[in-house]
Amino acid sequence: MFSKILIANRGEIALRVLRACRELGIKTVAVHSTADADAMHVRLADEAVCIGPASSRDSYLNVAAILSAATITGAEAIHPGYGFLSENADFAETVEAHGLTFIGPTADHIRMMGDKITAKTTMLALGVPLVPGSDGELTSLEQAREVAARVGYPVLIKAAAGGGGRGMKVAQTADELEDAWNMARTEARAAFGNDAVYLEKYMDRPRHIELQILGDNYGNVVHFGERDCSLQRRHQKLLEEAGSPAISAEQRDAIGRTATEALSRMGYRNAGTLEFLYQDGQFCFIEMNTRLQVEHPVTEMVCDVDLVREQIRLAAGEKLGYAQKDITFSGHAIECRINAEDPVTFAPCPGTVAVYHPPGGLGVRVDSALYTGYRVPPFYDSMIAKLIVHAPTREQAIARMQRALDEFVVEGIKTVIPLHRQILDDPQFRKGDYTIHWLEQFTARLQ
Ligand code: ADP
Repeated sequence: MFSKILIANRGEIALRVLRACRELGIKTVAVHSTADADAMHVRLADEAVCIGPASSRDSYLNVAAILSAATITGAEAIHPGYGFLSENADFAETVEAHGLTFIGPTADHIRMMGDKITAKTTMLALGVPLVPGSDGELTSLEQAREVAARVGYPVLIKAAAGGGGRGMKVAQTADELEDAWNMARTEARAAFGNDAVYLEKYMDRPRHIELQILGDNYGNVVHFGERDCSLQRRHQKLLEEAGSPAISAEQRDAIGRTATEALSRMGYRNAGTLEFLYQDGQFCFIEMNTRLQVEHPVTEMVCDVDLVREQIRLAAGEKLGYAQKDITFSGHAIECRINAEDPVTFAPCPGTVAVYHPPGGLGVRVDSALYTGYRVPPFYDSMIAKLIVHAPTREQAIARMQRALDEFVVEGIKTVIPLHRQILDDPQFRKGDYTIHWLEQFTARLQ
């Protein structure tokens, strides 16, 4: 086992990793930008190193500074969290080249899944069903027209290097295809320096269902069931559940078997998530994330597992030590992402937290790095907390979440807590009757 780990991240996820390390008796090194000098992850870590100015590019994405920090402090492994360098294959490779362990999959697997076109061809070859669309990259607008006519409108032009919902444009009809093509490519070039695009049928009422996977270095792969992440705004998740109100235990077993067999054949190791769109009883793979996800706590609650602890253990070369049949599901969990945003316009609202009082009680978990007096910097992601509840049934989980949201006090900045309250009150949400388009329609009605 490692004796010291450097956490190459900030905010709640840096704390999340730090907590797992503490419980394993592992010392932690925090890295931070000048804007985060008084952040909670810095205060709680055993050691902290400033790695650059506020801009992420010069700090949390600064590979040389992070590696120097690891070397100076004698850290043996690096946990990248999510975002920042977590899906950067070159970073994973460089970390390993310096004799350190990257807590995650191999650089080759990160690279393979980082290109969504390669990800899809790989999964197809391994027997995983896909969303209908182009066979790989589109080389011309004419080719896009042909594929669109074949799969039928509406269609989606997507960036091979896409992420965070960027580089993705819908064409409702043939008239809109040229604009979607140009816009997706321009956005992809600007955001990722790569304008390769592909095409998918734009599904009209799917749910976003994803599967949590863990693999060890010896070919053993298990899944921890699904998360329903259909509640999204601009392709960004806002509320997640485990399990999905739409998936039966048999469906979970079946897709779980397909996914674990595929990843075991790939030799995939550490944590990963397979994302699917689910409609009319069919799972269609859209992409794989080769890292821990924001919404991992809902899985932890229903499976009673510490996924970060597992990541660290597996990276240290330990075996999984349990089989699929040992993984059981109990109750229901919901996560609300609390963003520092106006709950109606979604404009970011950084600023000083005048009062912070998180909810508590049975079945309530708050993953956050906030404290009273903390100044939410304007430079990073607007997510400031995750409120997670666990209860025996979905109905009880909803009641518990409403109770917890009512208790949550964050003063001085605006947050999306009022929006979450409205979602949880909605009869359709309460029935579990929603698709990926539901939240945008819901928020449009509130305007
Ligand atoms: P990113 O990596 O940018 O997050 P994804 O491929 O994961 O992109 O897609 C993000 C979201 O966009 C999905 O969860 C879903 O809501 C929507 N989406 C993606 N592909 C399709 C599709 N073919 N049809 C309908 N919606 C889609």
